[in-house]
Amino acid sequence: MEECIFCQIIKKAVPGDIVYEDDRFLAFKDIHPKAPIHLLVVPREHISSINDLQEKDEGLMGALILTAKKVAAKEGFSDSGYKLLFNVGRGGGQLIDHIHLHILSGGYGRPISEI
Ligand code: AMP
Ligand code: ZN
Repeated sequence: MEECIFCQIIKKAVPGDIVYEDDRFLAFKDIHPKAPIHLLVVPREHISSINDLQEKDEGLMGALILTAKKVAAKEGFSDSGYKLLFNVGRGGGQLIDHIHLHILSGGYGRPISEI
C-alpha cells in the first residue's frame, strides 16, 4: 500500500524541511506557506483525521499541542504569538489525510494577519 506523503517525510523517503523531531512527533516547514512562518506538526503514527481519533489518542493529542508549544519556543516566535489550526475533512480544507497541526505566525515581533 502506498504511504501518505507525511509518512514518507517521517520515514525520510521524501525530503522535508524538518525543524524538530522526537520519538513521537516531527515538525517541518509547509511547502506552500500561508504565513511568514508556517510549520506542520505531525505524529509519527498515521491517523488520517481528527474524525478518526479514539479515546486512546487523548494523550497523543495533548502531547501534539505541547510539541507545537515547544517548537514555537525553539524557533523563537512564542512571544510574538501564533495560530494553531486543524483542518478536518475535505469540507474543512484537509487535503493530506495524516493528522497535522498547522502553526502559523507572522514572525518575530509581527502580528499575524487574518487567515
Ligand atoms: P491541509 O490542507 O490541512 O491538509 O494541509 C496540508 C498542508 O500540507 C498544506 O498546507 C500543504 O501546503 C502542505 N504540504 C503538502 N505537501 C507537502 C510537503 N511535501 N512538504 C511540506 N508540506 C506539504
Ligand atoms: Zn501518513
